[in-house]
Parts: sequence; C-alpha cells; structure tokens
Amino acid sequence: MKKVTDVISMTSSKQIDLKQSYVTALKDPNFRSYVEHLPIEEDLLMKYTSRLEEASQEFQNCLHCPGLENCKNHEKGFLLTPEKQLKSIVFSYNACAYLKKQLKQDAYQENVYLFEIPKQIKNARMKDIYKDDRGRKEIIKYLIDFLQQYPTTKKQKGLYLNGSFGSGKTYLVAALFNELAKQKVRSALIYYPEFLRSLKESFGNEEYREKFDRVKKAPLLLLDDIGAENMTPWSRDEVLGPLLQYRMNEELPTFFTSNLTMEELESHLANSNNAVEKVKARRIIERIKELSLDMKLISKNRRS
Ligand code: ADP
Ligand code: MG
Repeated sequence: MKKVTDVISMTSSKQIDLKQSYVTALKDPNFRSYVEHLPIEEDLLMKYTSRLEEASQEFQNCLHCPGLENCKNHEKGFLLTPEKQLKSIVFSYNACAYLKKQLKQDAYQENVYLFEIPKQIKNARMKDIYKDDRGRKEIIKYLIDFLQQYPTTKKQKGLYLNGSFGSGKTYLVAALFNELAKQKVRSALIYYPEFLRSLKESFGNEEYREKFDRVKKAPLLLLDDIGAENMTPWSRDEVLGPLLQYRMNEELPTFFTSNLTMEELESHLANSNNAVEKVKARRIIERIKELSLDMKLISKNRRS
C-alpha cells in the first residue's frame, strides 16, 4: 500500500489544498459524522468541503428544530442536501418534514380562489368563529346547516350578510368555503370593487371572458363588499346582471357581504331618480333575493 506522503507527492497543489481544507473541516465532530453517513466516497467529498459544511450546518439546525417558525436554514422549510450524480455532487434544497406536513395540510386552499381578499382570511376556520355575541347565532347555524347539507344538496341559497366594517362578514363566509374546500369543493372569494376594476381593464382582451367566467361559474361564490364599487350602468347591466342571472339558472350558491342594507344597495344601483334606472336596480335586487337570505351581522369591529 502507498503511503499518504506518496499520494500527496503525486497530486497537484490544488488537490492538496482541497484535501487540507477537508481534513480541517473533519475536526468538527458534527461535520465528520455528517459526511460519514453520506453514501459518497471521500475523494469526491473533498471537492465540495464548503458546500458540505453548509449542508451539515443545515442538517444540525434541523436536528434541533422545534418547528417551521423557528427554521434557521437559508430557505425557510428547506434543507440543503447533497446527492451523488455520476462523478459529481449535486446540491438541492429539499422540503423538510415540517414543511411537507404543512403543505399537505394546506392543500385544500388550492380549491379556494381569492381575489384581493386579505391574507388572514385565508386560514379562516369554522371552529375559530367567535361565538361570543348573539348577533351571529343565526348566521352560524345557517353555515353549519349549509355545510352539512352541501354533499347531498348543492342547490342551496347563500347569504346576503349586511353589517358594519370589521364585524367579521368575510371571515364567516371564508370559514365555510375553507371547510368545503377540504371536501374538494371549489369556491371563489372575490373583492367585488377590485374585481370590477380588473375586469374593466381587460375589456376587449382575450382574458376578459376567462376572468368573468371564472367568477361566474365558481361552484361557490362570495361577492365581497358589494355596494362599495363605483357603480356604472356597465357594471350593473353587463357584469352583475348577467352574473347573477347565470347563477340563478344554474342554481349555484352565491353569497354577498355588504356595508349596505338591500334597500341601500338598491339606491346605490339606481344611482338616480330616473325611473328606468330604478327598474334596473330593482331587477338586480330581485336576483340577489332569489339567490340569498338576508341576514344582519351586528358586531363590534374585529380588526386589530
Ligand atoms: P368584515 O368583512 O365584516 O369587514 P372581516 O371578516 O374582514 O370583517 O373581519 C375583520 C377582522 O377580524 C379580520 O382580520 C378577520 O380575520 C378577523 N376575524 C373576524 N372574525 C373572526 C373570527 N371568528 N376568528 C378570528 N378572526 C376573526
Ligand atoms: Mg369584508
């Protein structure tokens, strides 16, 4: 067998440097144990010392990690991992066990399309709904019944939730949709004023129909904050009217939240005392009534 000194004398100075830094790194017992457990030969490992040190450090972080929130790694939830491929080592970021679990838990959220809805609403859950004020008892009962009946009867009326800013209207509907999303039911929560703006922007483009249909045809729909939009005859007669008509024909559950009562929404939609406009507004309200039950949510402002 050749002596180490003989081997060194045969190698280039670059290889000596590589070997030296590898040997130095091995003085760290964590690093030593890490590389010893890799199914890769030393000759190859020593070409990647600094990358392996990083990977070893990340591995150590993971060993003592109590959960995703405390992740110390370069990319939260990921672990730098070496893998031998032919004559080299390839490093990639792999999801850690905590992240994998989280992704699995959150998979239902893919069934919920959110358009300009605040992030906190994304995690709304039925079991977290505040039950402290009487004002929401009737609404909660409605949501629970809806949830129970949906697997057998898809054709249920939604709600028209009227209440003050921050009372929890959007949260309540989101909690229901999230629960159904876990049963693979698709839904859309749409911040209506922004949806109109966005639709108007793509008027005449290919994406217009796609944007419109995605909302119009959603198996469950929330038009959030209706009445807060800039009312125009176009938004009323070309967007809202046909959208509601379609959902009535197809008997698709439709929910609304609004700071306005239905009467106030009617005047908002008429926007004048003109008799023709008033009739058009009336028709929209009739459709909303056909699609939903009118409920009032009286509650304090929950926004922090
Ligand atoms: P609204 O739509 O009536 O203006 P939101 O539904 O947006 O009100 O609720 C206001 C805030 O209170 C949001 O930040 C929401 O996440 C929170 N919130 C409302 N209800 C609940 C609840 N039951 N549990 C936890 N947070 C809630
Ligand atoms: Mg809201």
